[in-house]
Amino acid sequence: MQQLTCTSPGHIEWRDVPSPRLESDIEALVRPLAVARCDIDTFLTSGLFGAAQPFALGHECVGEIEALGDAVRGLEVGQRVVVSFQVSCGTCASCAAGHSANCDRMPTLSDYGMQPLSGVEYGGMLSDRIRVPFAEAMLRPVPDALQTNALASVSDNVLDGYRAVAPHLEERPGSEVLVVHHGAPSIPLYAAQAALALGAARVDFASRDAASLDLAKRLGCNPIETDLEKAAGRYPIVVDAGLSPEGLQYSLRSTQPEGICQSLGFYPGPTMPLPLGRMYTLGIRFFIGRCHACALLPEVLALIEAGRLQPQDVTTRTVSWEEAPDAFLEPAIKLVVAR
Ligand SMILES: [Zn+2]
Ligand SMILES: [Zn+2]
Repeated sequence: MQQLTCTSPGHIEWRDVPSPRLESDIEALVRPLAVARCDIDTFLTSGLFGAAQPFALGHECVGEIEALGDAVRGLEVGQRVVVSFQVSCGTCASCAAGHSANCDRMPTLSDYGMQPLSGVEYGGMLSDRIRVPFAEAMLRPVPDALQTNALASVSDNVLDGYRAVAPHLEERPGSEVLVVHHGAPSIPLYAAQAALALGAARVDFASRDAASLDLAKRLGCNPIETDLEKAAGRYPIVVDAGLSPEGLQYSLRSTQPEGICQSLGFYPGPTMPLPLGRMYTLGIRFFIGRCHACALLPEVLALIEAGRLQPQDVTTRTVSWEEAPDAFLEPAIKLVVAR
């Protein structure tokens, strides 16, 4: 079968690889139908995290179930499903606690399409077929009324944006929220969208990037063009979305006393300076960590089905399967590849 493969930094091609097969009775085979480019993919293909070996690309998709193990319940061949980007069992103590990103049965960072980070190749969703080791935990049926392409990023980035604000707005309903964009753009836009859907009084979107500010405005946010120096104000909830130290410092400066700063940043390197003295004095609570895809999928799909969240509004470019190798290297806020 064909699999989109990053062979070296900046080089992507279709490769013929062996088709996966069911290896146990709790697995599924899924044919991806629409695949979204995750914000981290551009860093992976540019070689930021290193890439000694060719690796399969893509870890956000809606697909169709092609085959199911005999022990799988609640799913059917032919069904459209969102596939969790993380490989999680659904039954261990961590998964049962909702911490599915750190499943006890899998090595850390067991994700599709991220071999440079984990060292393990689980396959990529830009392929004819993927193997899903824990079908019941990792697959969520797509409601009939929802479009395939609209949900392509729900595997990961949409969930990531949602969880950045959902628990904090539950604790402090109706708060004003600041989203600070200083890296790749789609996750902060999904966070802004989720904050509006969950009843934030106002969502300010701070960025240096004109296209992202434009889209944020169309989504209903107040755009703030920033140099990441002078804080725009003090907010009870701030989302730090990026990779730059100055973006992180700006986010913390913009958090009000006793406020919450939720970071979505995957900061490379061994250490990153934090103003702990100021955070201690002002009681700023800082949250960081990966999203728990399997655990979050049901509640986010319910929000989309209810019409309260429209992830398709963040998609800026949709291309055909054949165009994927070129399109994956070209800039776009959110790229979707569809059959
Ligand atoms: Zn991702
Ligand atoms: Zn588990």
